[in-house]
Amino acid sequence: MLDLKKNLDIVLDNIEKYAKESNRKKEDITLIAVTKTVDIPVIQEAIKYGITDVGENKPQELVRKYDVIGKKVKWHMIGTLQTNKVKYIIDKVDLIHSLDRISLCEEINKRAKSINKVVDCLVQVNISKEETKHGIKEEEALDFIKSVSENFSNIRIKGLMTMAPYTQDKEDTRIYFRKLKELSLKISDMKLENMYMDYLSMGMSNDYTVAIQEGSNMIRLGTVLFGERNYEEV
Ligand SMILES: *Cc1c(COP(=O)(O)O)cnc(C)c1O
Repeated sequence: MLDLKKNLDIVLDNIEKYAKESNRKKEDITLIAVTKTVDIPVIQEAIKYGITDVGENKPQELVRKYDVIGKKVKWHMIGTLQTNKVKYIIDKVDLIHSLDRISLCEEINKRAKSINKVVDCLVQVNISKEETKHGIKEEEALDFIKSVSENFSNIRIKGLMTMAPYTQDKEDTRIYFRKLKELSLKISDMKLENMYMDYLSMGMSNDYTVAIQEGSNMIRLGTVLFGERNYEEV
């Protein structure tokens, strides 16, 4: 049996504990409940317990749930975003975590402009250099962000996102989170227009405590809240 309330309480305790260790308060950390494959009634239950932010990785699924749940929560697009799907979510998302190529920026900017919206985005960086991971290369991040800042006035960069490799020992992820934090400081120093380094979206079920210790202020949790799911099935 899924005990969502209990799972959430454990997570919230951990957030408070690890935030304190890095001289922050629990309110400084945004918890995104990753609700991919989770049914709407369960999401409604999570909202009842205080969840304010949800993350989806498939545009169709986000739209289907948004149509029922609406603006009660903030919607995060956390998955790889195909250019031809941007139009479905552009008016619904509060934050896109997966900005990683200029062609995607062009489409987001165009669609955002057409509805008079400035869309908040995070740049996804492939810090671990794994072939299977999306995101721009660390060494290309500065040029990419400069280009976005200069060319796309309907995109507002709000920070960086990364996924650490899945490891048995979560200590092994620390180096990647530390690198993303360092990169964000470097980018922040450039003081570009339309660019803020407010958010570091890093940390998933397996490694969020380490991520918070290393400066994450936005964690994306699925499994520890909703239990094991077969993400491939849906
Ligand atoms: C699925 C997913 C998560 C959540 O993963 P869990 O290990 O279940 O916490 C976080 N971020 C992204 C981009 C995801 O696709």
